[in-house]
Amino acid sequence: MKIKERGINIQGYKFLIYITQISSKWYQRLHSQIQICTTQENPNMKKNTILFILSSGHSGSTILDLALGTHKDCFSLGEISEIQTEIDCDTYCVCGDTISTCDFWTRVKAALFKKYHINIKTGGDFCIKPQAKSKQTIINKIKTLLKITGISKTKDSWIINTDRIYNTIFQVSDSPVLIDSSKNLIRALLINKTLKNYDIKFLHLVRDVRGVAHSYNKKSFSVQLPGEEKKEVQRTKDIYPIADTCGMWNRYNGRITLILKTLANKKNSKRVMYENLCTNPDETLKDIIEWLGLAYTCSLKKFSSTEHHNVGGNPSRFNSAEIKSVDEKWRNLIDKNDINKCMKKARWLNWYYGYRSGKSHTF
Ligand SMILES: [Zn+2]
Repeated sequence: MKIKERGINIQGYKFLIYITQISSKWYQRLHSQIQICTTQENPNMKKNTILFILSSGHSGSTILDLALGTHKDCFSLGEISEIQTEIDCDTYCVCGDTISTCDFWTRVKAALFKKYHINIKTGGDFCIKPQAKSKQTIINKIKTLLKITGISKTKDSWIINTDRIYNTIFQVSDSPVLIDSSKNLIRALLINKTLKNYDIKFLHLVRDVRGVAHSYNKKSFSVQLPGEEKKEVQRTKDIYPIADTCGMWNRYNGRITLILKTLANKKNSKRVMYENLCTNPDETLKDIIEWLGLAYTCSLKKFSSTEHHNVGGNPSRFNSAEIKSVDEKWRNLIDKNDINKCMKKARWLNWYYGYRSGKSHTF
């Protein structure tokens, strides 16, 4: 009986080892496919770079995008995934003109039409569509996963159009690096896997969850649109309860951290703290610029010294002129109960990034 039991155990172990080996082979195969690719087909030919800034909302991505776009070899796109909506609504470009009157976007639209015979307004999808909950079926999720891992080679129309937009902007701006702060992680991963003609990098910007929660919870903010008086805008729908904000922060940053840690080549991804960016802007920006393979020749802190043409995103892009000292008003204004709610939802990830509960920590 004992021998039989041992026999069964040995068979069981053999079966387990077999399954482990098969799984390992599959994992290695899958991992080699989903590994974010850094190798260039021709090492002598330098590819243009797309830098994705990934962050949860209210983490400072707008000022980081503009500051990097001040470098002579970088061009700030803003939330380019919204370009079709921005053109439809003829909103303001950050240069102060509307999209329809901005010289840069007029040239982009003309070049796009000349080369591809497409019009952004009527040329089909230009951005990934947020799927309705009813459409988030298991099948659709599997399809997206297969595309992100590169197993499915299907190129959606929005990716083809995004490629055309990138290509045209590289040509019109004459910059080898485009900064895309659209923030949609799935979109960035799909582009990374599909568009092999670019060197793709990921910059994860994190901010203390308590600062993010406080910022989301402000009931109003001041904004001055081009040619208009400064006004106080009352928030109506995007005020989130503290606990919800912290839950969102936790999920979004957790996902980015896990995916970049697991799949990205170390050379192609980087994490930056908002607080470091504000406290030591030149040091932080120099580090990012050199990581992009460029030379940091002058300070990028005062980004209003250069004309930008980015679109979409936070209205603060119209009023910000430089990277200011770190905004930590939450330390005095946020309620103790709210801090406890934050910590309940996001304590471990906040701690993992280096944020501590005391006031005396340095970044
Ligand atoms: Zn413009």
